Formats: sequence, C-alpha cells, structure tokens
Amino acid sequence: MDEMCHSARVIARQGRALKLYRDIRILLYVWSMPPSPKDYAEIYKKLQAPISTVYDCGKKCAPYNNGMPVCCTTDNAIPIVEKSEYVLLRSRTDMWTPFKPKNAADRAEIADLKGSACRAVECKGAAFCERDNRSMACRSFPFYPYFNPAGELVGLATYWSFEGQCWVISNIMIVEKPFLDEMLDSHELLFKKDDDWRKTYYDQSAQHRRVFSRKGEKFPVIGRDGSYFWVLPKSEGKMIPAKKADLMKLRKGFPNF
Ligand code: SF4
Ligand code: SF4
Repeated sequence: MDEMCHSARVIARQGRALKLYRDIRILLYVWSMPPSPKDYAEIYKKLQAPISTVYDCGKKCAPYNNGMPVCCTTDNAIPIVEKSEYVLLRSRTDMWTPFKPKNAADRAEIADLKGSACRAVECKGAAFCERDNRSMACRSFPFYPYFNPAGELVGLATYWSFEGQCWVISNIMIVEKPFLDEMLDSHELLFKKDDDWRKTYYDQSAQHRRVFSRKGEKFPVIGRDGSYFWVLPKSEGKMIPAKKADLMKLRKGFPNF
C-alpha cells in the first residue's frame, strides 16, 4: 500500500493533517492505485472553466501579497501533486519543477511527503502561468467538493484557512455555473478512478463542520444547482438556503471588492 497526498494543496491551517498551501498542504491517506497520468489528462479536460469570466481574482488579492496572487506563491502554498499528475505535467510543459526548500520551515512542510505518492513542486510563477498546464489544485482553489454527513456530494465549500487572503472566499457569489459544473464532474471522475479521494473530501467536509461548530459559526456551500446554502454549526450538518444579503456580508472578510 502506498500513501496518498492531497493534491488540492490547500487544506492547510485547518487541522495540521492536510496541507495544501503552506501550513497545511499534505493529506496522507492509505492509497492503493492512484489515478494514472492518462486519468489526470482526462480529468483536466473536464476542469477548464474559470471561476468567473468577469473578475480576475488574482488582481484582487495580489495587492495585499506583494503583488503576487496568494495561491501562486510558495511563501503561502507549496504545491503538492501526485507523482502521476507530475508525470503528466512534465510531459506537457517545463513550467513545473521539483520544489527546492529554502529553509528549515520549508523542509518541515514537505517532510511528511517522504515515501508517499506525492511530491512538492513549484511553477515559474504567475507571470509565466500556462493555463492548460495548471495542476488540479490550481484549477480548484479555493474550492473543494463538499459532502454532507450522509456522504452525498452536495456542492462546493472553500478552504477556510485562506479567509482574509483569498478574495474569492469573500465573494463566492461571483462563481459561475460552468466552473461549478466542471468542478463536480471532474471530481466525480476522480472519485471513480480512486474512491480514496471521496473519503479524503468527506473527511475534509467533516473537519470543516467541526471547526465551524467549535466557533459557533455557519459556513457557505454552493449547491449543485448554483444556489447557496449555509451549513449551520452544531447541527449535524443541517443546510438552509442562504439569502443574498447575508452572503454579501462575507465581503467584509476582505479589504476590497
Ligand atoms: S483564487 Fe483566491 S488566492 Fe487565488 S488568485 Fe484568486 S483570489 Fe487570489
Ligand atoms: S501554475 Fe499558474 S495557477 Fe498554478 S500556482 Fe503556478 S501561476 Fe498559479
């Protein structure tokens, strides 16, 4: 048995078990047969739509991160990909290279990867981004497939640890339906290729509920049909429709619109 990484690379800061961007990016799980490079190519084809065709979110968060999009700098997030995904990326581009730790903190961040099916990588930076050769994590961030306690994939939730840094998290009403549909379709294909991924996100969803229940706060989910819901704290995952006016309050979590 091999270990699996969570290439969605963001689950950091929300429970030391998963890591994606900087503090949390490595989710290790028992894993039998990771998706092949060919599988990832198929999955990539299903996940190409931008979150929004109206807003360039990188321009929204970069002014607060030394001019660089938050999710595209290894200071915030060291990308972790499955080795098979990396094989595909290397066959298509020279944009990705193995991540070179610059200090002890970097080395500690990626220490858990040793012996796993994953590796830490880095791209050439936002100025050289090749849209078609972004990783699965790049394509998905800041969203992950959200499962209710019954194990149903009911929509998308966000990596809450990036609240205040990621503009999209504070403005989730800008998400367009093609992105939503493609996120769900591509991840359902991923789960079909390896069901451990489903468990990964099921656990991530449970962790999301636990963290917000401890805080006594609700969190938003974009439903499969594009409507919005709140997941209520201490409610065993009860979801209620979200009013637009309440969702607008999320904007207060970021310095600008
Ligand atoms: S997804 Fe979030 S962190 Fe990444 S560029 Fe857009 S606003 Fe910035
Ligand atoms: S490949 Fe593009 S989207 Fe992904 S981290 Fe690099 S610059 Fe950002």
